Amino acid sequence: MTATLLDGNALSTHLRTKLAGRVAALAARGVTPCLAVILVGEDPASAVYVRNKVAGCEKTGMRSIKDVYAPDVDPAVVFARIAELNADPAVHGILVQLPLPKHFDSEAVLEAIAPEKDVDGFHAENIGALMQGNPRFIPCTPYGVMKMLESANVPLKGAEAVIVGRSNIVGKPMAMLLLAQSCTVTVCHSQSKDLAFHTRRADILVAAVGRARMITGDMIKPGATVIDVGINRQADGKLCGDVDFESAKEVAGLITPVPGGVGPMTITMLLTNTIESAERTLK
Ligand code: NDP
Repeated sequence: MTATLLDGNALSTHLRTKLAGRVAALAARGVTPCLAVILVGEDPASAVYVRNKVAGCEKTGMRSIKDVYAPDVDPAVVFARIAELNADPAVHGILVQLPLPKHFDSEAVLEAIAPEKDVDGFHAENIGALMQGNPRFIPCTPYGVMKMLESANVPLKGAEAVIVGRSNIVGKPMAMLLLAQSCTVTVCHSQSKDLAFHTRRADILVAAVGRARMITGDMIKPGATVIDVGINRQADGKLCGDVDFESAKEVAGLITPVPGGVGPMTITMLLTNTIESAERTLK
């Protein structure tokens, strides 16, 4: 292996120790940061993500509320619950686990969350603030990626950054954050022609597609920093990323593993946003 591992678990542990200090400082002022998580349906992956988010809160000394609804719940019930949580001063962060069942208007649900409690950063107002370079909450996964790059002192100014995937929750905010750090950003997607042409130019390559091992070593520039956001479940039940780790690690300079890379960082940044939100209530 030539690449150095960017260990999301180790960085998360380090950052969460600091977060616990902020939680203790809030407790001394009578505030316990609280995250409310809404899960609709029985998608097993979503259930695991929600469990990890709730566990992350508990381990950091925060409070969490978990509301689980049947897959056929009337959306009005969920909207009413969001309104209740919006109005509750003891709740600092609200997130609705995506994807929602098809009978939900996901965009309307995200817009129903009070922007000042939208710790996922998906509300249009918060996306607009991010676009303007003055974010209120940075979406957790790209925020975690930026922290990993920062921790490894990856040079960003003028670097060629290529993102594969253009979703609202990963690809697009990732592009905004890298652009804000003066990277030259290329965003690829399912209609991109000659994907390898783009990925081979990348000093920083972020894969956020959801296709197991689609980025292979021959698609990577020697010495590049490779960030694998993808989480794919293989036939044997094990997780793998969008990057073919075995071939990529022989070419890349820095590489994130799956699991143990971006995943734990996403939760750490969710906790960070919730604590930040609680701190703002005291300002
Ligand atoms: P989406 O399905 O919303 O987006 C996938 C993107 O990949 C789309 O923009 C799509 O293009 C693009 N794409 C699909 N096929 C190709 C292809 N052959 N070549 C190039 N681009 C392609 O996924 P998400 O952004 O929500 O998630 C991406 C991955 O990241 C998933 O595996 C997900 O599980 C994981 N994830 C991990 C998180 C973590 O904490 N580590 C958090 C969030 C997500 P188009 O727009 O043209 O359809």
